[in-house]
Amino acid sequence: MAILSLGVFGYWFGHFFVFLTIALSTVLLYWGVQLYRVERWLGDPESAPPEARGVWGRLFDHIYRLQRQSLETQDRLESSLEYLQDSLRSLRDVAIITDPRGNIVWANEAAKQLLNISIDNDVGRPLVNLIRSPSFSDYLSASDHTVPLRLPPTPEQERCFQVEVTAFGDGDRLIFVKDITEQYKLEMMRRDFVGNVSHELRTPLTVLKGYVENLQSLDPSITEKIERPLVQMDMQVVRMEVLLKDLLWLSRIESIEHSDKTSSVDMGELINELVGDLRAAWPDREISLSRSFDGLILGDPMELHSAVSNLIVNALKYSDSQSPVDVAWLCEDGQPTLHVSDQGEGIDPIHIPRLTERFYRVDKSRSQKTGGTGLGLAIVKHVALSHNAEIVIKSQVGAGSTFSLVFAPNVSTC
Ligand code: ADP
Repeated sequence: MAILSLGVFGYWFGHFFVFLTIALSTVLLYWGVQLYRVERWLGDPESAPPEARGVWGRLFDHIYRLQRQSLETQDRLESSLEYLQDSLRSLRDVAIITDPRGNIVWANEAAKQLLNISIDNDVGRPLVNLIRSPSFSDYLSASDHTVPLRLPPTPEQERCFQVEVTAFGDGDRLIFVKDITEQYKLEMMRRDFVGNVSHELRTPLTVLKGYVENLQSLDPSITEKIERPLVQMDMQVVRMEVLLKDLLWLSRIESIEHSDKTSSVDMGELINELVGDLRAAWPDREISLSRSFDGLILGDPMELHSAVSNLIVNALKYSDSQSPVDVAWLCEDGQPTLHVSDQGEGIDPIHIPRLTERFYRVDKSRSQKTGGTGLGLAIVKHVALSHNAEIVIKSQVGAGSTFSLVFAPNVSTC
């Protein structure tokens, strides 16, 4: 408006362009001054916004509001971060933050007490140089951390730790390390107790078995009156023998010392031989076998034999004597897989999540009749766990069940 008025004024005096140039230069100068004030003000965000009228005044107000909002957000973020660090600092478990290269960025007080890692000395150092364990560095570099890692005690380090990793940001990681030594000791005590009791019971049981066999071999006229109790005793002794055998086997599988899975196992051949033995032991039953994968699995042949055997024997036990049992060893979606299917009684879905618990049975009386101990699937679960495999159970009541052992893709190339 001012430029227009000066233009008219100049025109009136016959110097239109001179007046217009003066007007435009004044405006440019004013804008230059305002820009300079903005620059100075933004250089010192704590200072008050410059005073101005018109469009510059409104612009300063707007920038001032945005500046306040951004400072408030920054304050809020800083206090949340402080709050988070405070809570992590006071945790009894170790909390460590690493950058995308695995170097320590932050660690809490517990890290100093449990792992001797401190912010003062160790920031910027690779975490794997301070927690020296091959399984820890493998776990850290893996992409899947859904299952926590357990670091059992070693000769150099007597505590047992559980590690959980959460990735965030651009490859940063929050690592929690929990001291589970007490829980580990209790587990070991339970395992040793079960193992020792089972072992100790074997001698009296052998003596008892001997007496029962001796009595049964006597002249029938002598044992006539105790014939039935003798048959019962013989049956119960056999049952106890099977139970003790399964308990001892389970504690052997659970034991850390036996977790060395270094043999290359030809699973196809192992299953083939096992099916042959079971066909001989159950001559009236039809057991079909299909093998389309001949890769090797890294593992313990005895444990794998016991897991597969438990699955096939269960399929035979819990299905009709006329119905077939189908066994398949194949490569499915890049994973070595065993399927054992029957057309038996099937299992109600409510029981499926608990089937692998020790002594869990769907129908107690039926299992006792079939001579089951309730430990078969617990054994299968442990073997699966230690061989990087998963048990998948699909079943329909009245139609049958399929129990599958699905090995992780890295166990073998298929
Ligand atoms: P058990 O020695 O009693 O067979 P397991 O641990 O092998 O113990 O099995 C647990 C329970 O799971 C069994 O008691 C049975 O009820 C059920 N079960 C296992 N396999 C099958 C199957 N193929 N069909 C139906 N039920 C099954």
